[in-house]
Amino acid sequence: MDVLVRDRAVFPRDKPCAGWVTPGTLETLGLDPAEYAEARTLQTFTGFRTGLIGGPDSVTRYDRPASYAVRRCEFDQFLLERSRARVRCGAPVSSLERSEHAWIVDGATRTPLVVGAAGHFCPVARLLNGPQPRRAVVVAQEVEYRMGARERSECRVEPQVAEIFFCRDLQGYGWCLRKGDHLNVGLGRRDATGLAAHVRGFLEFLAERGRVPRTLPARFSGHAYLLYEGPPRRVVDDGVLLVGDAAGLAAAESGEGIRPAVESGILAAHAILAARGRYRREDLEAYAAALEARLGPRPRRFRAPSGLAAAFGRPLLSLPWFARRVVLDRWFLQVDRSPLRLPFAAAS
Ligand SMILES: Cc1cc2nc3c(=O)[nH]c(=O)nc-3n(C[C@H](O)[C@H](O)[C@H](O)COP(=O)(O)OP(=O)(O)OC[C@H]3O[C@@H](n4cnc5c(N)ncnc54)[C@H](O)[C@@H]3O)c2cc1C
Repeated sequence: MDVLVRDRAVFPRDKPCAGWVTPGTLETLGLDPAEYAEARTLQTFTGFRTGLIGGPDSVTRYDRPASYAVRRCEFDQFLLERSRARVRCGAPVSSLERSEHAWIVDGATRTPLVVGAAGHFCPVARLLNGPQPRRAVVVAQEVEYRMGARERSECRVEPQVAEIFFCRDLQGYGWCLRKGDHLNVGLGRRDATGLAAHVRGFLEFLAERGRVPRTLPARFSGHAYLLYEGPPRRVVDDGVLLVGDAAGLAAAESGEGIRPAVESGILAAHAILAARGRYRREDLEAYAAALEARLGPRPRRFRAPSGLAAAFGRPLLSLPWFARRVVLDRWFLQVDRSPLRLPFAAAS
């Protein structure tokens, strides 16, 4: 198909993100870790340190690569180049008008189909669903930087052990990840109130424990994204469909958004090819159905822990079996979920 990618940023560009990816995501993309790592950073994790900010923690180790971390500036550039699509970057999409059976983008480009993939503030998503809801939104801040030799020796985060520390109210968590010579530190929460204070508190905790170098940059980047819960969202309409954060698909327990972005993109491509040039809403409904079959129905209720649940949950976090079986295997790694496999998913 003749595909034009429009993006407001010029690539390679960074994206506020920890860049943590589950092995199934790489498999779905047909991406060989060793080959990818030949010219880019790919950090393997065989363990996780989990605990509470200010509280005890434990380390869970696996006898296999349990997860990876990428640098988004490299990973997104790699995927964009591999797609072989035409690319027009450096200006936002700012207007979409319907004209007969086509869309006119920014008054200039005529197309029978638009895929809204512009993340949380996607203009196509706004057209379909109005402004993003305030609930079920995660707000997060992170910093990623290259450590010098002295900082590397001061950094107590082991390269192969990702660190996750939950906020005391269990409304979010902070993380520290090594990615080769780079360090990524950040914190995300369901509740936007006082995010900066939570980030500060997390950094003070890390400094007290001596986990990160004292020279950690002060300038964090932030972004927001929607979890897969709450009121239903429309993901298709005449000549349009939504993928990734534009559709609000991030895993409610862990905030993982890369896997559902990749999977929804592949399911959307499959539905578009199957529609054979007919892009009415009913022709594209197969995508909405496939997405729901993959992710399950969007839970209507928000799953944020109440004060009481947090009080019960806090002591559990320091138990090694709970960290392995629930926090890691179920929430973060979703070990029971097999990778999405479609005949054309493994691109060459
Ligand atoms: C701090 C933070 C940490 C995170 N850590 C993780 C993690 O470790 N693992 C994980 O799985 N998920 C993580 N996430 C979530 C993850 O980053 C997102 O879910 C994922 O990037 C969604 O991909 P996407 O392609 O839908 O959107 P995005 O990655 O946001 O890409 C959207 C693209 O659209 C472009 N764009 C925006 N507006 C316009 C416009 N008007 N016109 C044209 N282009 C536009 C942007 O420039 C961008 O390139 C994190 C999120 C945050 C904020």
